[in-house]
Amino acid sequence: MSTEHPLRVRERLSEVRYEIRGELARRAHALEAAGRTLIKLNIGNPGAFGFRAPAHLQRAIVDNIDLTDPYTHQLGLPAAREALAATYRARNAPHVDEEGVFIGNGVSELIDMSLRALLNPGDEVLVPSPDYPLWSAATILNDGRPVYYRCAPDNAFLPDPAEIEALVSSRTRAIVLINPNNPTGAVYPRGLLERIVAIAARHDLLLLVDEIYDQVLYDGAVFEPVAPIAGDHPCITFSGLSKVHRACGWRVGWAILTGAPSRTAGYRNAMDLLSGLRLCANVAGQYAVAAATTGPDTISALCAPGGRLYETRRAVVEACAASEHLELVAPHGALYAFPRVVGPAARGFDDHQFALDLLEQEDVLIVPGSSFNVPYRDHFRVTLLPQPEVMREVFVRIDRALARRAEA
Ligand code: PLP
Repeated sequence: MSTEHPLRVRERLSEVRYEIRGELARRAHALEAAGRTLIKLNIGNPGAFGFRAPAHLQRAIVDNIDLTDPYTHQLGLPAAREALAATYRARNAPHVDEEGVFIGNGVSELIDMSLRALLNPGDEVLVPSPDYPLWSAATILNDGRPVYYRCAPDNAFLPDPAEIEALVSSRTRAIVLINPNNPTGAVYPRGLLERIVAIAARHDLLLLVDEIYDQVLYDGAVFEPVAPIAGDHPCITFSGLSKVHRACGWRVGWAILTGAPSRTAGYRNAMDLLSGLRLCANVAGQYAVAAATTGPDTISALCAPGGRLYETRRAVVEACAASEHLELVAPHGALYAFPRVVGPAARGFDDHQFALDLLEQEDVLIVPGSSFNVPYRDHFRVTLLPQPEVMREVFVRIDRALARRAEA
């Protein structure tokens, strides 16, 4: 029997946006299908820009391929979890044991799981603005409410602890930190992290710390992990193979639960249950985890002068400095720059419309700044993954499009 009613979808989806792969990306696919050649800077996908996962990680999977057919334990392969526990213990993360190490299909799955294990309807989560928008989406889809604390451009995209504390209510359950930050490239100093941890401790809030770019650092920036600062206070640290190890297609991430066991036991059991419901993470990728955590450093050289990421970042910084239409807080970490449009080109500027125009007229795909849950519309994000000369060409095109706006 047929019905004329369209399928209904979950109502709260109308509150969720993920423009990195949204309408603009769909338009880009259509243009490509029609034969246009685009420069797509919307996704931090190293493999799409010619990066490869380190050979010793590939080897670890190939050598174990015969073992990858069965499900693993729901929390992940014991050897991978032991290697992760040892790595985080060596970083002075307190109270780490294998039972508090969760391996997921990317950090993405674990972000969702960690909020699902935490939130009751109406609970609030303090989320940075700008954010990596999965944090907002996962909060909303798990019946919570993101409450944004500003990481303002005129404060080098650093949060203001006093503002964070002022936003705490009786419904607040957690503080999300993204450090090094996507989309801004900010790297938070230790003193700032100490103040935020103190707020979490005062108000009994779980720290949800997304450190997926923990080793992607430029110009001597120092990364400070939060878990050692948090000590006995409950904290989950997220990272994985996608960025530092350039293997995002393998879909392997981890979450490390730290804090006094007497305080984290119930939450750990909730994560265990949710992990079991999705059976296990991609097994082949898990065989690369021990190789990644115990093997040689392969990212620092890319971020140092002469390295590909460093030189592309330099191209962006120089292009923005040379442009009368752009301003940039130079990124100190991660894989993105978040420039602001200034001057006559910024009059009546609509970041979404600009991104669409740039795509149609200049064959470049960027992400409008407002996709990252900010109230202003004069920023955009590009990934730093292309070759430096491609990036120089991108900024010639962006400047040309902005000059047209300034003259209009
Ligand atoms: N967190 C941040 C800040 C990210 O930028 C990304 C991906 O871009 C993720 C999490 C998700 O990473 P994955 O699911 O590939 O581990």
